Amino acid sequence: MKASLIESQIAIDAEHIWHPYSAMQSDSPVFHVESAQGVYLRLSNGRQLVDGMASWWCAIHGYNHPLLNQAILHQLEKMAHVMFGGLTHEPAIKLVEKLVEITPQPLQSVFISDSGSVAVEVAMKMAIQYWNALAKPNKQRFVSLRNGYHGDTLGAMSVCDPVTGMHSLFNSVLASQFFIDAPACRFGETCREEDLQALEQLLHQHHAEIAALILEPVVQGAGGMRFYSADYLAKARLLCDQFQVLLIADEIATGFARSGELFACDHASISPDIMCIGKALTGGYMSLAATLTTSEVSSAIDRGDPGVFMHGPTFMANPLACAVALTSIELLLASDWHSRVMNIQGRLEQLLAPSRDLSQVKEVRCLGAIGVIEMKQAVDMKSITRQFVDAGVWMRPFGKLVYMMPAYNIDDEALEFLCGAVVDIVSRQPVSA
Ligand code: PMP
Repeated sequence: MKASLIESQIAIDAEHIWHPYSAMQSDSPVFHVESAQGVYLRLSNGRQLVDGMASWWCAIHGYNHPLLNQAILHQLEKMAHVMFGGLTHEPAIKLVEKLVEITPQPLQSVFISDSGSVAVEVAMKMAIQYWNALAKPNKQRFVSLRNGYHGDTLGAMSVCDPVTGMHSLFNSVLASQFFIDAPACRFGETCREEDLQALEQLLHQHHAEIAALILEPVVQGAGGMRFYSADYLAKARLLCDQFQVLLIADEIATGFARSGELFACDHASISPDIMCIGKALTGGYMSLAATLTTSEVSSAIDRGDPGVFMHGPTFMANPLACAVALTSIELLLASDWHSRVMNIQGRLEQLLAPSRDLSQVKEVRCLGAIGVIEMKQAVDMKSITRQFVDAGVWMRPFGKLVYMMPAYNIDDEALEFLCGAVVDIVSRQPVSA
């Protein structure tokens, strides 16, 4: 693309378009992408970048995959969209059949929506309607973990970490929820009694007003990239049962093998009462999410007042998105996803190891196809992003976290290049005084 055209388009972008968490009058650069192929982004100025982000956990098979392209084209010839009220179609039916097959067995009822945040809203509404149907209308509040992240809509925000989720700004519109500290026990550790004390006490005291515990199983993503004990999850499940509180697992980031199991709940061999999935559901092609629940929850909602589940998005179960989601899942299941992801984990551990001893770095941790370098101080986003692009990689750190979650089909050469560039650039960041 001609440099002058790129410049004029970027000027229009700067004048009129908001980017995620950005100011309209921003001096942070945005990079103009022309196309993407495999694990490479091609900028419009001809530069090629190895993508470390998989577009925020989504593009697990890489970009421009022939089978995913074909799934959409094939469906497009039949219909792009029809309303889902009173109508149904093969792409939705086949996708849901597959989701029910691959998620924990008790999850049998599926609500399809458009984005992760909406899937979380739906989960919260399901929990409230369930208890209402069971004549417990006071159970309308939620328990959440600090450092958690569940989305940007108001209901979802109310269960995000109160500090990083900026609760002070939206104080009077956000529902007031209960928060407990994120588990101190790390992934691989057994959790001790004191790790669960806060949850147990809270449930003991307030279970009569609590509809559900909502958490990101094992991996807390946007709220801190923390990996915690699967044993905590298993024990939290038992506490929820003991105190008659539903468990909502937000698998939006972890779903589809990112943490080394198909779903992060599988690390603890538990089934939640409600599970949210999104992001990698369509292999990063289209926005689609789903909230799955048990027949017990869905049939109680049916029996309660008003006898229906009160949600219905216009673009519910978009056929193009459902078709590409089914193909993406089939592609994943047909691959040796477990060894691929574990192989990436091993390589990330080796390749990021040199950064462990850097004076800028607090900790390096890897789980599945996720690699995290936690810095001692927050990075300067503007300058580090430019340095990454100049080095030929696409990374999007936030705060103190420089993290990557590449596509599962990244080859060794690209992964070496990506990690080498990241370690080098991290080593060139200022050292805290
Ligand atoms: N839950 C989790 C765990 C997430 O990581 C995200 C997105 N980062 C969401 C919910 C919200 O999803 P979306 O951005 O699709 O609304």
